[in-house]
Amino acid sequence: MIKNLKLAAKQGHEGTSVFDIAGVKVGEGLVVIAGPCSVENERQTIETAIAVKKAGAHMLRGGAFKPRTSPYAFQGLGLKGLKILDKARRETGLPIVTEVVDTRDVSWVGEYADVLQIGARNMQNFSLLREVGKSGKPILLKRGMYSTLEEWLNCAEYILAEGNPRVLLCERGIRTFETYTRNTLDLSMIPAVKLESHLPVFIDPSHGTGILSMIEPMTLAAVAAGADGLEIEVHIDPPSAMSDKDQQLTVAMFERLMAKVRALESFMKELHAHPLPIPEHGESSLQGQQDLPLAFTDAVD
Ligand code: PEP
Ligand code: MN
Repeated sequence: MIKNLKLAAKQGHEGTSVFDIAGVKVGEGLVVIAGPCSVENERQTIETAIAVKKAGAHMLRGGAFKPRTSPYAFQGLGLKGLKILDKARRETGLPIVTEVVDTRDVSWVGEYADVLQIGARNMQNFSLLREVGKSGKPILLKRGMYSTLEEWLNCAEYILAEGNPRVLLCERGIRTFETYTRNTLDLSMIPAVKLESHLPVFIDPSHGTGILSMIEPMTLAAVAAGADGLEIEVHIDPPSAMSDKDQQLTVAMFERLMAKVRALESFMKELHAHPLPIPEHGESSLQGQQDLPLAFTDAVD
């Protein structure tokens, strides 16, 4: 058990905390955040927003401030990007999730965002954590790429200690010796967070893999493992994207993925509501089948 956690610890909480974020309940049922890596222009953002809403997303993501590896790469549209996100919210009703990278920007970015995202590179930026804690805005805290669960939960603690209870954790992959994938998506963090904390845990399979064809299987694995939410990059025309063009789903791919996510979500609900009987030694594994939901009896047949 992780010591020294006070507000982030599981102790004293029944299950996962539920927060209301602009009408979306986080912590009960799966919440999907989708949208482009970067806000590039009004058409790209609003068309993506309308499409992801139609496919069933609950919130819109889009970076107006992009923490890039190279200082010469596209850094985001800043205020102009936030105004575009604001327009997308008005057009679709989707709450906005966007990253803040600098303590000096927290209060005014908070005027446009419904959820402030702290990126992996800033997970342990303690002054930024304190500042977003004071903002009172819900915070999506990404796991740092070199961080342990203990370090990650302590960063959540910084935000909570400022009197801000609405912290969503988001696993986005860590650096390991494996270089095939962009990062190693650590899905074991879903049950690990559930053991140690009451905070909801999201999975970002886009940055977690960086490989288009791996996004669907890792998304479905995250749903099966009990994630409270997903953050997925979607672009109306990925080849023209100004950042992360190789990992952004097309709208059609996202629609197909959402259909599978919904089917798996209801199957998982049924599985947890009617756990499969575990046969005693010598007992037929088909005994007790009459109590199973239809999906399982079909599967056995
Ligand atoms: C992002 O979600 O836009 C992002 C930059 O992710 P990360 O901080 O996880 O790299
Ligand atoms: Mn990205």
